[in-house]
Amino acid sequence: MRLVMLGPPGAGKGTQVEILCEKLSVPRISTGAIFRDAVRKQTELGKKAMLYIDKGNLVPDDITDLIVKEHLLDTDCKKGFILDGFPRTVPQAEILDEIMDEMNMSLDAVVEIDVHSEEIIKRLEKRRSCPKCGRIYHLIFNPPENDNLCDDCNVELIHRKDDKREVILNRIEVYHEKTEPLRGYYRKASILKEVDGEQPIEDVLNSIMKMLNID
Ligand code: ADP
Ligand code: ADP
Ligand code: ZN
Repeated sequence: MRLVMLGPPGAGKGTQVEILCEKLSVPRISTGAIFRDAVRKQTELGKKAMLYIDKGNLVPDDITDLIVKEHLLDTDCKKGFILDGFPRTVPQAEILDEIMDEMNMSLDAVVEIDVHSEEIIKRLEKRRSCPKCGRIYHLIFNPPENDNLCDDCNVELIHRKDDKREVILNRIEVYHEKTEPLRGYYRKASILKEVDGEQPIEDVLNSIMKMLNID
């Protein structure tokens, strides 16, 4: 299964992708996670990307496209893949189509998780993640078993620097302006599937599985 996860920041893309990749045994390619890793390691890419991420702006298309292409070619995609956070602009979607063509592949579906702005803010202000394994938590909606520690790694959870109110508001605006046009793009290609993201995590998962005919 070759999937793209679409949706505003905080919609639950990462949460669903974590579960779906395990269920489908396919790799996950998350541009946000790739960039954050590069920032942590202070690579040239990381230094560049940080300037955009910290303000809640998109990393320029040329940098992002290259990263995704590299990862798609390097990753074992025989059984498929899930792209989380890419594409985020129409030119990125066009590049992805070109890459798919070159690899003699096509996307099976684009799942768009819908969530309103007020809910996004509630989710992101209390989002926490494990710096070691990347697992995502929410202090109220999906808390760890032990106070602020990852259930799997026992490592202290972190609060992302770009998950503060003013940056979140900019990210929502950027989403409307740059990413929302992708709905039209993929609707035209007849592969857009929309799911209500304001249900409990389990229910969102079940809706996605039903739409994609996954048992
Ligand atoms: P995205 O990858 O789209 O930015 P995440 O998967 O990181 O979103 O989720 C954002 C926050 O909302 C996290 O704290 C996560 O635990 C929480 N969350 C995800 N899905 C739901 C849901 N269906 N209901 C309530 N909270 C959710
Ligand atoms: P979220 O799902 O919470 O919006 P991500 O982890 O997907 O966050 O992305 C974090 C940041 O990384 C984005 O705000 C943006 O600066 C950068 N980024 C991630 N994916 C892309 C992309 N496809 N194009 C440009 N910038 C990106
Ligand atoms: Zn962990």
